[in-house]
Amino acid sequence: MNYTREEIVVLLHKALNEKLMDMVEIISAKSEKISANLYVVGGFVRDLLLDRPNVDFDLVIEGESLDAAPEIAEIMRKEFGGRIILHRRFGTAKWILPSKLANELGLDILDFAATRSEFYEEPTKLPVVQSDNIGRDLYRRDFTINTIAISLSKSNFGEIIDLWNGVYDLNNKRLDVLHGKSFDDDPTRILRAVRLEERLGFNISDRVLVMIEESLGLLEKVTADRIRHEIEKILSEDCPENILARLCVLGIGKAICDELDCKNDRWLMEKFALVRSFDFVNNISSVYFGLWLYDLSEEEIGAVSHRLNLASSLKKSLIQVCRTKSHLNVLANDINPSVIVEILDGITEVAMQILLISTNDAVVMENIFQYYNKFRFVKPTLNGDTLIEMGLDSGPDVGRILAKLRAAWLDGDIYDLESEKKLAMKLVGDN
Ligand code: ATP
Repeated sequence: MNYTREEIVVLLHKALNEKLMDMVEIISAKSEKISANLYVVGGFVRDLLLDRPNVDFDLVIEGESLDAAPEIAEIMRKEFGGRIILHRRFGTAKWILPSKLANELGLDILDFAATRSEFYEEPTKLPVVQSDNIGRDLYRRDFTINTIAISLSKSNFGEIIDLWNGVYDLNNKRLDVLHGKSFDDDPTRILRAVRLEERLGFNISDRVLVMIEESLGLLEKVTADRIRHEIEKILSEDCPENILARLCVLGIGKAICDELDCKNDRWLMEKFALVRSFDFVNNISSVYFGLWLYDLSEEEIGAVSHRLNLASSLKKSLIQVCRTKSHLNVLANDINPSVIVEILDGITEVAMQILLISTNDAVVMENIFQYYNKFRFVKPTLNGDTLIEMGLDSGPDVGRILAKLRAAWLDGDIYDLESEKKLAMKLVGDN
């Protein structure tokens, strides 16, 4: 399907509120003043034509140099307020809108980027960037469906620029790259391809599947942070389990690091769906991570953490899950609360949620739930000072006796301050 300018204008009006459309016209006029052309490109246009809502509005400015985008952003800030975050070397600027304007427009940030070409001096390294025209800017992009631009300049407002048959691929649900060296330039596009394919329900073309297979070896050269960033994006999709399964089938996980060759089964599908059904899971991507890596040993977790440079808090949770897994058989019994506490105390909320979701055993689940909702908050009323007043020497015995008092509260052996004091005196006396 080809689109006329009028049809695109109608789609823009449908997708953007009136205030935002007015703002686009203002930015367009400011761009014209510095003899620059204005476009919207990438995910927003792709999703506009697919009738999928997307607020990621990336404006592209074709001017004399990389300074064109920072210049426009600065003009807008001077007139409307807010603040700017600049990356001059890449010709990009983020305009953080003042809150009143943000509310009116329905977005917090407007991204401006100068049209540029990229040149890869070395495969897998970040590219050298230089100012260039819109055609070259589209050529540096990952997939044909992300190369469609819409002109927002007054003279041809709404005109589609489609140099790489992006509209054809959109209509045919095809994910294709622009040239045969695309994955050599940037192997993270392999991960992006699988993510977009699953998200949009598209098919990676056969030619690209072969290219992916041939480029897998390059993934090991990509830095930890870039790979992790792409994995985090995968884990923030609606159904990441399908993407992880595809990564596994295509050998992509293993190409990143041997230990990521894990899980492509019904268990993972069920557990990921379960994560989404629990509203108490707030760090959803960490819990997904833990379930994805659930079968790994501590040593393997160490290797993955190193390869992906995982945050130390996530690594800690993953290791705790690994260590606690071996005690789950104890938790499958009708045991005293103090025993449950002994197993689960000190583990992070994320680790606890991973363990809770990982189990199929109703008793384990109930015991973890009890700990999560109740037992972890149980503390003795007395403190160390009271024990010392009772005659105990300060030192490690204080902690030991407090732990015994806590266990006694948990198991119902004491139930009020009087019974607690009585037990404390006895424990101090016996010490
Ligand atoms: P999403 O909808 O997940 O945000 P997106 O397509 O908007 O996906 P972004 O990561 O926001 O992706 O990137 C914006 C645009 O920049 C993309 O549409 C694509 O054209 C381009 N792009 C992003 N990453 C790459 C890459 N690794 N190689 C080439 N082009 C890229």
